[in-house]
Amino acid sequence: MTELLVTNARIVYPATSGFVIDRGWLLARDGSIAGLGAGDPSPGTCQPSADLVEINASGMTLLPGLLNTHMHLYSMYSRGISTGRTSHGFLDVLQDLWWRLDRSLLKDACWMSAMFSGMDSLRCGTTTIVDHHASPNYIAGSLSTLSDALNKLGLRHVLSYEITDRNGIQGAMDGIEENLRFLDEVGTEGTGLASGMIGLHASFTVSDGTLAALRDRVGSRDVGYHIHVAEGAIDEEDSLRKYGKRIVARLDEAGLLGPRSIAVHCVGIDASERSLLAESKTSVVVNTMSNMNNAVGLPAVREMLDAGIQVGIGTDGYTTNMFEEFRNTLVGLRNRYQDPSGFWPEVQRAQIETNADIVSRLAGRPVGRLEPGAAADFILMDYTSPTFINAANAFGHMFFGMSSDLVDTVVVEGKVVVKDHEVLEVDRKSLERESLKVAKDVWEAFDRLV
Ligand SMILES: [Zn+2]
Repeated sequence: MTELLVTNARIVYPATSGFVIDRGWLLARDGSIAGLGAGDPSPGTCQPSADLVEINASGMTLLPGLLNTHMHLYSMYSRGISTGRTSHGFLDVLQDLWWRLDRSLLKDACWMSAMFSGMDSLRCGTTTIVDHHASPNYIAGSLSTLSDALNKLGLRHVLSYEITDRNGIQGAMDGIEENLRFLDEVGTEGTGLASGMIGLHASFTVSDGTLAALRDRVGSRDVGYHIHVAEGAIDEEDSLRKYGKRIVARLDEAGLLGPRSIAVHCVGIDASERSLLAESKTSVVVNTMSNMNNAVGLPAVREMLDAGIQVGIGTDGYTTNMFEEFRNTLVGLRNRYQDPSGFWPEVQRAQIETNADIVSRLAGRPVGRLEPGAAADFILMDYTSPTFINAANAFGHMFFGMSSDLVDTVVVEGKVVVKDHEVLEVDRKSLERESLKVAKDVWEAFDRLV
């Protein structure tokens, strides 16, 4: 039995109905939170036979680890890349950058991208990533390659492979098989740090034939689906033109909606689609910085929430930093609706509670919460404040006072994985040297693609 005891921490659960403990303790046992409270733990709280690690967190603030519910780890190799082109629209962005990059990724690049995106996520206080992966020239085994890197880092993950027709029928079938293979490997509800779901790129790159093949192969399994929806106008136009129905109606008929499914972006959906998402309890994950960067507009989040949809927050690979993302989500939505006082509790709920609900459903256990029985995933920040902190204003401190720079220690599954701002278990400098060799191959392959 392994135990980790944190003492003398200010414990902050910045949810809409959260709490603040000015000086408290938290005990993790075998990967889950065994207890927490004010003051010092009473004698006998720790098991005498346990292998105990203690952290005196005096002067630090403990929060639940942040969760990123839509990520592309492979985006790491786009850092500093030049497309040599000027992209004039959303499809150009895909064709000029992302669809050239993903076709340039082989096994080493997948592993390295997971390693570096994972390290950077951990250093920013993110303890779970829900990833959406594509590497058309290395499909079979790719999710296990990512999982191997993330397990080494100690980062919780939910993986899926983007099924798409854009690399031919065989590419689509290989995508289906890779999702199912990984689900068989980790089980429907996951094992250890890993869970799986089934990814699809987007409606406009997945034919009815591919959806039928997917349905046949999935059969009666209870799985979640992870798909981009109406990110650019092309997606909805394609669905209406080819199938005579809107995207979400198409996904509904294909059986892809449900409480374990994630519809990403949803910039261009209408009221009928919002109703279908709400009725099916499908979560929507918004990615504000990515949407703004691609100039596709921002989704109608207020109307989604009014319809009863659960809305979470992801980064779409644009950044590994959830502090940046939830801040931009608030200011982006205020700007979209020209409402300078709107969206505070909504963004708070999306980041803290809804993201936790989404991950918990996929991981098959409570994640992202500070309560006994939840996964022991939390962060210690070098954060003290010259103003008062209480349950009512805790998210205000997180929003205006805290930042990723202050993440000192990260614990996932009861194990310290970041200490003194450094990721443990790996030698970053030597990995960077290895990555530079891989980056050369990736960028040369990228340049050869037109
Ligand atoms: Zn995405």
